[in-house]
Amino acid sequence: MARYRFEEEEHTMFRKSLRKFLEKEAVPQYDQWEKDRLIPKSFWRKLGEMGFLCPQVEEQYGGLGLDFRYGVIIGEEMERVGASLTGVGLHNDITVPYIEAYGTEQQKQEWLPGCISGEYITAIAMTEPGAGSDLANISATAVKEGDHYIVNGQKTFITNGINSTHVLVVVKTDPKAEPKHKGISLLMIEEGTPGFTKGRKLDKVGLHAQDTSELYFEDCKVPAANLVGEENKGFTYLMEKLQQERLVVALAAQIASEDMLEMTVDYVKSRKAFGKPISAFQNTQFKLVEMATEIELGKAFLESLIEEHMAGKDVVSKVSMAKYWLTETAKKISGECMQLHGGYGYMEEYKIARRYRDIPVAAIYAGSNEIMKTIIAKRMGL
Ligand SMILES: Cc1cc2nc3c(=O)[nH]c(=O)nc-3n(C[C@H](O)[C@H](O)[C@H](O)COP(=O)(O)OP(=O)(O)OC[C@H]3O[C@@H](n4cnc5c(N)ncnc54)[C@H](O)[C@@H]3O)c2cc1C
Repeated sequence: MARYRFEEEEHTMFRKSLRKFLEKEAVPQYDQWEKDRLIPKSFWRKLGEMGFLCPQVEEQYGGLGLDFRYGVIIGEEMERVGASLTGVGLHNDITVPYIEAYGTEQQKQEWLPGCISGEYITAIAMTEPGAGSDLANISATAVKEGDHYIVNGQKTFITNGINSTHVLVVVKTDPKAEPKHKGISLLMIEEGTPGFTKGRKLDKVGLHAQDTSELYFEDCKVPAANLVGEENKGFTYLMEKLQQERLVVALAAQIASEDMLEMTVDYVKSRKAFGKPISAFQNTQFKLVEMATEIELGKAFLESLIEEHMAGKDVVSKVSMAKYWLTETAKKISGECMQLHGGYGYMEEYKIARRYRDIPVAAIYAGSNEIMKTIIAKRMGL
């Protein structure tokens, strides 16, 4: 059955086949990946073989030329398995679109086929130890010397950091620019480039299988041909593409909420106290009804937002609203669902415990929820 009104039969079939694939290739392995703190590259290759990586890319570069509705389905089905699969959505819907939109013909031919097959895994490196929300204030520099840039700096909290073969690095090409954001550019730095080293795999509260890491650049010599888009226009590109990133995070939060509600409904029906199922208590019912209502509201909001985004409308305010509201809602739901599980909810063998650990970061990354509110406030003329 279609999940959204804009889903056609082929989308529903695509969702079905992806879900079947994940039930075989991801669900049974997921616990082990969480223990290993890594999703193996072989899984990426399998995704590529099945056409689940970057299906939106034009056929001439090896893609399927499919629309964003397929991206929505991939993001949702990955999240259904577990939040640590977020790196796939980041590759498909966040990093690769920069190459598609701003890359040269040569860059597209060189990089896109590998991104589709799973041979290449991408990451985007904006955040630094000293600058996250205040992106214009980054200090990594790229100084042009002949036909190369010499890059120096450090990045942190980078999703896909360890597995990545291609990192789109946000650098200062004009450190003196005023305002500061006018001196920012995007450089694709490939694994193995001298002077580029990967740091620690970071030990996180949740998203355990996600290989978030630090990256270091020390006199790293990057071909000038790896500049993506025009020099000093990086910030403009980021502001445009961050909309889809935030939408993808909102979608994942919605799926997390739905999953938590479903598992909690099942649990309260089977657990008994005072001679009756927990689900018979009015408090339980009211809590679950409130969650179900918020979930329905979230889904309706997302449905219209995806349509507006696909129609190319200005969705900056609404995307920021969706990102902040849906992630806050999911956080709240995670606490309430854990409470309804009683002590078992605090045990690792119950899925709610993992969801509870995984969800808070959604309020922090892709632009924190406070930053979302500053964007909305500005657009309200405040
Ligand atoms: C698991 C994980 C994965 C990540 N993946 C990536 C990635 O792939 N690539 C990447 O580049 N980054 C990534 N990040 C980094 C993430 O985007 C940043 O952590 C986030 O933008 C916040 O920046 P910060 O950590 O420096 O916090 P800070 O900017 O120091 O913020 C600290 C607090 O102050 C608040 N604050 C800051 N400015 C304002 C303001 N103007 N008004 C009100 N409140 C404000 C923030 O909302 C926050 O609550 C990831 C982070 C995590 C945890």
